[in-house]
Amino acid sequence: MAINVTPIAGLDPAINEVRLRTAELVNTEILPNEDVLWRTRRGEERSQDERDVNRRRSLEMRESVKAKVFEAGLWAPHLPREYGGAGLDFLSLAYMYEILAYAVGASSLFGIAAPNSGNATILVKYGTEEQKRRWLLPLTAGEIESGFSMTEPENAGSDPRSIRTEAVRDGDHWVINGHKWFTSNGVDANFFIVMCRTNDPTGEFGPLGQMTQIIVPSDTAGVNIVRGIGIFGRERSDHCEILYENVRVPVANTLGRVGQGHEAAQERLGAGRVFHCMNAVGQMWRAFDLMVERARTRQVHGGLLRDQQFIQGFIAESYLDLQSARLMTINAAQKVAGGDADVRTAISAIKVFVPAAFHRVVDRAIQVWGGAGVSNDLPLSQMYQAARVLRLADGPDEVHKILIAKNVLRRFDDGVGWNFGS
Ligand SMILES: Cc1cc2nc3c(=O)[nH]c(=O)nc-3n(C[C@H](O)[C@H](O)[C@H](O)COP(=O)(O)OP(=O)(O)OC[C@H]3O[C@@H](n4cnc5c(N)ncnc54)[C@H](O)[C@@H]3O)c2cc1C
Repeated sequence: MAINVTPIAGLDPAINEVRLRTAELVNTEILPNEDVLWRTRRGEERSQDERDVNRRRSLEMRESVKAKVFEAGLWAPHLPREYGGAGLDFLSLAYMYEILAYAVGASSLFGIAAPNSGNATILVKYGTEEQKRRWLLPLTAGEIESGFSMTEPENAGSDPRSIRTEAVRDGDHWVINGHKWFTSNGVDANFFIVMCRTNDPTGEFGPLGQMTQIIVPSDTAGVNIVRGIGIFGRERSDHCEILYENVRVPVANTLGRVGQGHEAAQERLGAGRVFHCMNAVGQMWRAFDLMVERARTRQVHGGLLRDQQFIQGFIAESYLDLQSARLMTINAAQKVAGGDADVRTAISAIKVFVPAAFHRVVDRAIQVWGGAGVSNDLPLSQMYQAARVLRLADGPDEVHKILIAKNVLRRFDDGVGWNFGS
């Protein structure tokens, strides 16, 4: 299987070039090697020795692909060159992400896996020179890992004002106490960016100005990982529940200014949502290709699946989902790139529509593949879970729908209304 990418007429030639360069890597280095790269998922190993050998082979293969990505000038494309990235602009990134997402898991091979990529972006914008040297450069080089610790079990993640984890000044240190969960990558992280409630004496950052992001090295005394929360029936994951108990870190670890935490988080999530959606489009594209391939070749009841109208309905409906999700996301990316005033409405719209469309397409692809569809031999079951999570993470559907409706109503209240071009 290969991703079929040709230049898009009228698109900036530099973006087309990035698209083709990415597709070349995906087609030559990743797709043909998927079995080795992600070997442990197939469950064929009969012994621990076999598992160890395969794990070593996959790690070596991953390092070799990363080196090729680096040579091709596409490593950490979201970061400026001075910090080890490829320095691509927003629109190039959006077009690139859909292509590399075709190969499930490729984001880690391009240095853009969450939450490291979002943390790096925030460090570039808000970090001091010392923070960049200590955390950003090794993070970009892939030498260390990180987590973003915002959501709490006792308070609604959909309502950032409810966060209770507290940081209190004690001389030139912060003392942090709180309870977080779903901190992704928590098992491997060398540091966390922790969203804390602080006292903002200036009131400069408004009603949400009680939030501050603080960098906490994971080996600091009092950082207690309770568990990797089991999800989707798996015993454990790297989405961690963490207790921060009298954790002392220097005030120099404050990321941005005191009270700026909410603003920084919004910035991270805003652009991040476009990338999540382009990523979903790429995966949908793969699921679509897999579905069509199976429909063209699978014999049932003396004929091919492709000739059954139920299956033709799946193909047509998936085509509509894929095209609409893709065009909406590109439209939102163009609005972000162009600094459009209504960009938040566009971002919320894709954050609702795309994960649901992704979910539907993968669901149909699984159906067409029958039992194989839910096996680990295909990437579909992994995609299915990713699509479901995406309807919650970075703001559940309901919160985004409320925002869309409020923005639309405000435009009408202001006498502007909505126009057909936007
Ligand atoms: C796999 C995974 C990875 C994650 N990774 C991270 C991470 O790295 N770091 C991190 O900090 N967090 C992470 N999260 C947490 C995620 O961001 C939160 O789960 C999400 O923000 C929702 O918060 P909550 O779970 O507290 O749900 P709640 O806020 O309790 O909301 C529950 C439900 O209530 C409904 N709801 C909420 N508000 C409204 C409303 N106004 N009107 C109507 N209905 C409403 C929605 O249906 C929502 O799903 C992750 C979550 C998952 C599942």
